[in-house]
Amino acid sequence: MAKQKNTNDTMEKLVSLCKRRGYVFPSSEIYGGLISCWDYGPMGAELKRNLKNFWWNEMTNRRDDIEGLDAAILMHPQVWHTSGHVELFNDPMVDCKKCKARFRADKLEESRCPEKPSKSPIEHGCDLTEAKNFNLMFKTHMGPIESDDNVIYMRPETAQGIYVNFLNVKNSSRQKIPFGIAQIGKAFRNEITPGNFIFRTREFEQMEMQFFIHPTEDDQWFEYWREQRWEFYKKLGINMEKLRWHEHGEGELAHYAKAAYDIEYEYPFGWQELEGVHNRTDFDLSRHMEATRKNMEYKDERYEEKFVPYIIETSAGCDRTLLTLLVDAYDEVEIKGETRVFLRLSPKVAPIKAAILPLVKKDGMPEYAEKVLAEVKKHHKVFYDVSGAVGRRYARMDEAGCPFCITIDGQTLEDDTMTVRDRDTMEQKRMKTAEIIDFLDVQVNG
Ligand code: ATP
Repeated sequence: MAKQKNTNDTMEKLVSLCKRRGYVFPSSEIYGGLISCWDYGPMGAELKRNLKNFWWNEMTNRRDDIEGLDAAILMHPQVWHTSGHVELFNDPMVDCKKCKARFRADKLEESRCPEKPSKSPIEHGCDLTEAKNFNLMFKTHMGPIESDDNVIYMRPETAQGIYVNFLNVKNSSRQKIPFGIAQIGKAFRNEITPGNFIFRTREFEQMEMQFFIHPTEDDQWFEYWREQRWEFYKKLGINMEKLRWHEHGEGELAHYAKAAYDIEYEYPFGWQELEGVHNRTDFDLSRHMEATRKNMEYKDERYEEKFVPYIIETSAGCDRTLLTLLVDAYDEVEIKGETRVFLRLSPKVAPIKAAILPLVKKDGMPEYAEKVLAEVKKHHKVFYDVSGAVGRRYARMDEAGCPFCITIDGQTLEDDTMTVRDRDTMEQKRMKTAEIIDFLDVQVNG
């Protein structure tokens, strides 16, 4: 079955499918929505949870050298001065003198002029000002008094929560270098031009891992983590032909980085960053050490001298990976003159692993199906659907991203077997309840 090529209207179709099937809704929709803010519906929440669990398992549970962390979003404001974010976390911004719209100067091609949304500001001939720097951090005030003395920031990356806890984690876990700290959590950036659905938003979640190493081993660990992160997307079932590496040139490198590579995906709106792998050197720990006078140097019997660890960072956007999964899974197939949509999500992350469908509403089939449901649901998220022709029910589940449909028919009542239909191969096999549970275990957990 040929995969549908990405086209410009794929995004529109995907946004509408996400709404229809309960994946993603516009935030505060009944109030007209809030720009660049989205809510995950029942299916989206489940998909996001599965994705985070998958990342967490790969990055922590399946390894001995990475510990988890869940740091607060609000941090001491001095952290962001020390990290360089107050001074340097800027994007270049330009204004259009005619329509007054504001754009990110380095992303003009992917921006849209509000007067002519089909065109970029360049194509539309906008009259743009010189670029000015705009700080991306959201500010708020801690406590009941709004003054300059109690300004705090919504974290623009989760990484700093890891750096300030380096000593705590090292001492409490007794890990030895090389080791890493992983964290999943919200980050906030006052993006100048958010857009492309959940690709660039102002509130988003990151899945970050910071790996602490000896400074002389940075190149080798950098390569190791590039490889690991590439393999991660393969395991996740992403079409690898749509992924590529992009190396940051001199002008592109963030203020803390010695080397950086992005994993880019070919979205319907072009090649864009999905994840960054960065060599942050000892920049962060040295700066925090200098600011706090807490000794972040490392020493154990294997090293002659103390050193401030270097850090290799892997930083992925959770929402952006979720969008990648959806874009990658979206497929349209012509069947008997009708365009059918398939969301070919891998069973590893699919919100619902199987649908249980009694063929008819009589002859004891619904009762049998309910018993199977009760059994399978102890192990996997399954869905029961008894309404409508079985063909329509299959179609609904295919579009909703459900990988397997289990049908109870006349033969089931005789020999306790059910047909298990694979969404992608359309193959049907007969299995008993216990076999179905084992089959789903293998499909979901690998
Ligand atoms: P960009 O160049 O797209 O603004 P960045 O280079 O600033 O991204 P990083 O700071 O490296 O991004 O952040 C790490 C990851 O966090 C990105 O690869 C992306 O997946 C995610 N991310 C960053 N900004 C956003 C955002 N505004 N919305 C959604 N995800 C984001």
